[in-house]
Amino acid sequence: MTQVVEPDIQRTSAPSETVPHWIGGRRVAGTSGRQGPVYNPATGELARHVDFASIDEVNEAVAAAKAAFPGWRATSLSKRTDIMFRIRNLVDAHRKDIAGFLTAEHGKVPSDALGEVARGIENLEFATGIPNLLKGGFSEQVSTGIDVYQIRQPLGVAAGITPFNFPAMVPMWMFANAIACGNTFILKPSEKDPSASIFIAELLREAGVPDGVFNVIQGDKVAVDRILEHPDIAAVSFVGSTPIARYIYETGTRHGKRVQALGGAKNHMVVLPDADIDMAADAAVSAAYGSSGERCMAISVVLAVGGVADPLVDAITSRLPKINVGPGTDEHAQMGPLVTREHRDKVASYLDRGRDQGASVIVDGREHDSYRSAGFFLGPSLIDRVTPDMDSYCNEIFGPVLEVVRVQTYDEAVRLVNDNQYGNGTAIFTRDGGAARQYQFDVNVGMVGINVPIPVPVAYYSFGGWKSSLFGDLHMYGPEGIQFYTRAKVVTARWPDPGTSQVDLGFPRTR
Ligand code: NAD
Repeated sequence: MTQVVEPDIQRTSAPSETVPHWIGGRRVAGTSGRQGPVYNPATGELARHVDFASIDEVNEAVAAAKAAFPGWRATSLSKRTDIMFRIRNLVDAHRKDIAGFLTAEHGKVPSDALGEVARGIENLEFATGIPNLLKGGFSEQVSTGIDVYQIRQPLGVAAGITPFNFPAMVPMWMFANAIACGNTFILKPSEKDPSASIFIAELLREAGVPDGVFNVIQGDKVAVDRILEHPDIAAVSFVGSTPIARYIYETGTRHGKRVQALGGAKNHMVVLPDADIDMAADAAVSAAYGSSGERCMAISVVLAVGGVADPLVDAITSRLPKINVGPGTDEHAQMGPLVTREHRDKVASYLDRGRDQGASVIVDGREHDSYRSAGFFLGPSLIDRVTPDMDSYCNEIFGPVLEVVRVQTYDEAVRLVNDNQYGNGTAIFTRDGGAARQYQFDVNVGMVGINVPIPVPVAYYSFGGWKSSLFGDLHMYGPEGIQFYTRAKVVTARWPDPGTSQVDLGFPRTR
């Protein structure tokens, strides 16, 4: 039996010493005896611990969500809309508090942390349109006296498993639509930055979300595996690395669940010879080093076509010393630390491998002052003359390392993009509308930017990559999110006219 920590706790923007679960509308301390460390990446200090759930604790959260489902799905659309508006307004009012958690545990600088919250709010705003989004279709008189209509109904208990790099936005990608559609929800946040999830849970309760409709289970593989196997969970949304996404998809579907699992990325930015070099360099630097490169839509490879390579590399190089690297507590910082020391060191190891394999390391982030601090910093790094056989090109680095591959033609660039195992995002920089349109037609990638380096769709479109960047049939949030969290029911109805009633054993056909 789990122990309730504070039966009626006041919401606080200060992280707890030990980050608990949230079950049935309350903070619940873990009882498994297992915990994980949570660091302040800017100082390198161990900040707190997070409880890791046992199978029993996951079962308890699922039981709470299952018990809440009948009442929540029966709650009128107007009431659910009202609650979604309240959630939106509370998150809006607490943007800075949420951003504070992201800075404390992820290391995001203020502009990046606030940007994450803003993009999450877009998803809450989309979900306030739920009465319109759930409208079905109606066909009158499909046969004499018979009408057919389709309705969409919630699935039951849905779960979301989220990555470290968006501790607030990615949960909002999932739960906004899930609960607006009438499902109940269990969030399993990243164990690296878990505190924002509890603060958000408290906002949801304040907004009027009934107990059990939204739950948070902290933990690791034990919790995830129980979610994947639990017979009362109908659907699982996942965002994280590709190997785990593949595992989540295969295990979840084997247990009869609807699964959407978004994976990793290697996003190429093609720069054609006619592009504006300064604009392309500004975009490459913003998209490669923003959030320290820890974005699934970060640009990690520039494909410089023809003679554009030398001036473009010079323009990018000249911008790097001007990037203000520092902790999120410095309001002027533009780039913060990486999430853990292990991750930082793994990212840096690609600089050595690139050099060993024949690439030119133009800027090595380990020479940046911040690298010598106790925080998990790595300065912006640039590798030129990368070739597709090199380790740094073949793997997702997920850090502030931008690679330049020099190609001779547009066709060569497209071939590289399409041969890559990932297909999350890509961008083309050119002044030639015809070339851009051809690129949009040619590439096997889910999200394309034309002179836009980070083409994350707004909330009323859907987000998703192709190839090893997404396992499942439906993209996340937006209209496909509504489809994911509901299933269709088609009703064929006749209101009897006793005068025309007769026995007819033939197969029903239209008349
Ligand atoms: P991750 O795959 O390590 O972890 C994601 C989630 O899975 C976490 O909640 C974690 O606790 C859980 N997990 C980790 N190992 C597990 C295991 N063996 N079994 C079961 N569950 C496990 O990813 P991360 O390091 O937190 O996030 C970075 C990755 O996420 C990058 O690859 C990035 O590209 C990707 N990402 C993709 C998108 C997208 O939309 N496609 C968005 C954000 C991040």
